[in-house]
This record gives sequence, C-alpha cells and structure tokens, in this order.
Amino acid sequence: MAYDFDLYVIGAGSGGVRSARFAAGFGAKVAVAESRYLGGTCVNVGCVPKKLLVYGAHFAEDFEQSAGFGWTLGEADFDWATLIANKDREINRLNGIYRNLLVNSGVTLHEGHARLIDPHQVEINGQRYSARHILIATGGWPQIPDIPGREHAISSNEAFFLKELPKRILVVGGGYIAVEFAGIFHGLGADTKLLYRGELFLRGFDGAVRKHLQEELTKRGLDLQFNADIERIEKQADGSLKVTLKDGRELATDCVFYATGRRPMLDNLGLENTGVKLDKRGFIEVDEQYQSAEPSILAIGDVIGRVQLTPVALAEGMAVARRLFKPEQYRPVDYNMIPTAVFSLPNIGTVGLTEEQAREAGHKVQIFESRFRPMKLTLTECQERTLMKLVVDADTDKVLGCHMVGPDAGEIVQGLAIALKAGATKRDFDETIGVHPTAAEEFVTMRTPVAG
Ligand code: FAD
Ligand code: NDP
Repeated sequence: MAYDFDLYVIGAGSGGVRSARFAAGFGAKVAVAESRYLGGTCVNVGCVPKKLLVYGAHFAEDFEQSAGFGWTLGEADFDWATLIANKDREINRLNGIYRNLLVNSGVTLHEGHARLIDPHQVEINGQRYSARHILIATGGWPQIPDIPGREHAISSNEAFFLKELPKRILVVGGGYIAVEFAGIFHGLGADTKLLYRGELFLRGFDGAVRKHLQEELTKRGLDLQFNADIERIEKQADGSLKVTLKDGRELATDCVFYATGRRPMLDNLGLENTGVKLDKRGFIEVDEQYQSAEPSILAIGDVIGRVQLTPVALAEGMAVARRLFKPEQYRPVDYNMIPTAVFSLPNIGTVGLTEEQAREAGHKVQIFESRFRPMKLTLTECQERTLMKLVVDADTDKVLGCHMVGPDAGEIVQGLAIALKAGATKRDFDETIGVHPTAAEEFVTMRTPVAG
C-alpha cells in the first residue's frame, strides 16, 4: 500500500525533531505534527528558559562576592519583567531555528493537534494522512496532586510566564524542578520555602550529595521544610494563599508552585484506535527498539517514562531514525552512565552509581571524598563548600560513580562521564595530570579513601 509518509512524528520536541530530521536525511518522506511550540518542553518551558533564569539568579551572589575583589557597586535592583521579556525573545529565536531545521531538512511541518485514527493514520486540522510508521514523541505534562485548592497552584509551565516575581513562594516537591526553582526564586529575592514530603529531598541521588546540598541551601537562607505535605490551599480576601499542612500547621504565601513529577502527554491522542498499550505507571509501553504493542507505532522520550532528560530523548530519536531508515548504522541507546546535573545553586553534577546503589549491587567499594572552599570564595565572606566524591570498585579499581556539588558541577561531570564510559580505573584518575588551579583537578588528586 502507498502511504503519504514513511514516518509521521507526533510532537516536535527534543526527540521528535531529532528523529524527523535524521529520518529525512536518510531519504525518508517525513512529516511532524506540533500542537503547541516548536522545540517542545526543553526549549519552551524546560531546560533552556530554566537555565536562563538560573543564570539570572546567580548574579545576586556574584554582586555580593565582588566586594572581596575590590568592587563597590550601587544598590542592586532586579526587574523580573525584563528577565522574562528577554527570555521570551530568546525562546522565539530558538523556535525559528527549529522551524528552519525541520524545513531545511525536508520535513513537512503540520501545526495543530494530531490524533491517531488507526495504526497507520493521523488526523490533524481536519486532514488525514497515512504513514508506514508513526512515532509518538508527545512528551510529558506537570502532575499536581488532587488536593482541595489545587486550582490556586501553578506548575513549571506557568512559572516561566508569571507577570511578577512573587514576594513569598512555596515550592512543593523534592526532585529536579523543585530544587532548581527554589534556587531561582530565592536567588532573585523571593521569600522561598521548599516543602518536601520525605526525610530528605532528591531521592535517588548519592546520600552525601543530598546532605551536602541541604546544608548549602540552608546556609544561603533557603527555608527547607522536610516531612511536610500540603492538605489544602485557600485563597484569602487579599489575594494571598493560606496553606494548611497535613500536620495542622498553616503557612501564608503568595504563590504555591508544585513540582511533583510529570505524566505522559496522551490527551486526545486517539490511542484507543490502536493496539498501543500503557505500562503500570501509565506511560507508553515499548520494547528495546521503541516499538509499541502496535507494530506500526513507536514511541520515545518522556512519553515512555524511562529517563526524562533531553539528551536521552535525542539519543532515542536518533536510534529510531537509524533503525527504520539506516539499519546499518543502528546502535541501541546505552542507558548506563548517563550524566546529569541539577542546576540548583550550587549545582549538582553526577554520573554512574551512587554509593548506595554500588553497595546494593554487591560491589566492595572504596569511597573518596573531598570537601573544600572554592578558591574564588577565599577573598569573600561566603562560606560555601564544594563536595566531590568518587565511588570505586575495590576489586577491579573501576570508578563506578562521580558526584559533585559545587560551581559548574554539570560542566565538570560531562568530561568525567567520558572517562567512566571508557571504563576508567581509579589508577587512571590518579595518573591524570590536573589542570591547575581549578576545582576539577580535585577529582584526580584524591588519594586516601574515607570509607571502604
Ligand atoms: P517534549 O520536548 O515535551 O516534546 C513533546 C512535544 O509534543 C511538545 O512540543 C508538545 O506540544 C507536542 N505534542 C504533544 N501532544 C501532541 C499532539 N497530540 N499533537 C501534536 N503535538 C503534540 N532535561 C535535561 O536534560 N536538562 C534540563 O536541564 C532539563 N530541565 C527541565 C526543566 C523543566 C522545567 C522541565 C519541565 C523539564 C526539563 N528537562 C530537562 C526535561 C526535558 O525537557 C525533557 O526530558 C524533554 O523535553 C523530553 O523530550 P520529548 O521529545 O520526549 O518531549
Ligand atoms: P521528579 O520525579 O524529579 O521529582 C518529583 C518530586 O515530587 C519528588 O521529590 C517526589 O517525592 C515528589 N512528589 C511526587 N508526588 C508527590 C505528591 N503527590 N505530593 C508531594 N510530593 C510528591 O519530577 P520533577 O517534576 O522535579 O521533574 C520531572 C523530570 O524532568 C525529572 O525527573 C527529570 O527527569 C526532568 N528534569 C531534568 C532536569 C535537569 O536535567 N536538570 C531539570 C528539571 C527536570 P518522592 O521522592 O518522595 O517520590
């Protein structure tokens, strides 16, 4: 049967665009549908605008620390509206780049909401198109628990477009988004509280990293409230919000920001017209080659709920394009040693196993740790300390994990990830000459284990 397209991609986010462009480059006839914004979550309401706001928040401490280096500045004043307008301009520019990338690679762009009609047909803007393969790359959406007053709460989607910086804000959650945005709002001058339901935030990260970040954020005056869960939110006559916690405490605030995970975006997608199945958590179930239970339909990125990171969606998009249209170049995505950063202030950078995971997996481990005051701060009053940690297999000498809390941790860990992927041993680290004077050199000069 002749199809309109070889590949129809639903969603022009990180994974969808990558897959569409490369498939077209391999000679396939490709269309991509996008209902909201080109570039998807990462470009519009994720990684990119988030990092711009993190940069913005960083200036507060730079101004403060500059005094130690002889600078005298006037009273600093921050204007949220300027930051948001400049951010929006940059995002518009990136949307245009994404449009050009798609069009120039020969992909047909359909702007509108796409719905599956059957395993080989999609409907968009009243038109139907057939395709040999359909790729679902529709991403995710913030999930806010169903508590009384949830309509008064915002998510990351709205946080990027607030008209004003709230004077007081409660950030709820203990994952990436909560920790990053608590740092943004606190750095920009809002009275910020981070509420997390458990004992200690960032579940799944190395224990030393979680504790160290807790100490650093507390030093900076960020109000961390653990074992705290919201029961209800009520709007007051003056427009402020009264938040009642499950333990009966009441908090007054101007904004409640939920960052409690993301669900797959499957709204009105027409999955019921196909044999696509969902897993226990509600994400699209796929095999190791991203094929769903419906042979003509594949899915990648946040909608399959494996690792919700842009570089992972990109790698999956690439793998699908190769498998379908350039099988001789196909390589499966390797989910081991995925480096990641939390752009909190200070940053977390991490790759490989945490100490807890390594022990649980039965490794006999050696732990190397270094805590120090970054050189840049020695002329300032700032008491911030950096943490670096290596988890090493005592039997094979292989470095199993690298973890850092401190300035530029994400930048530093990217390089270390290559070493770990190549199977570097602690001896390789020891024999590597440092770059002096840097913080990163500490990773190659830790000699004495702190725990075995
Ligand atoms: P998306 O990028 O979400 O793209 C899906 C696209 O599909 C969207 O554009 C959507 O409008 C479209 N769509 C949905 N349904 C339809 C339909 N029926 N028809 C047509 N179009 C449709 N990751 C990192 O690696 N680093 C970070 O620093 C980082 N920061 C983040 C910060 C925030 C606040 C958030 C929310 C996420 C962040 N992420 C980060 C995660 C990252 O953004 C996602 O993992 C990534 O965008 C997933 O890509 P995707 O292609 O699966 O989906
Ligand atoms: P995460 O899954 O990282 O964290 C969710 C947090 O919300 C956890 O602390 C969880 O607690 C808590 N939580 C979940 N449900 C509830 C509830 N009902 N009530 C109270 N708390 C709850 O999700 P995020 O929303 O922070 O981010 C989504 C994903 O986006 C991330 O996992 C990450 O993959 C990606 N991302 C990546 C970034 C980066 O690379 N820098 C930045 C931002 C996002 P508990 O631990 O107890 O379950």
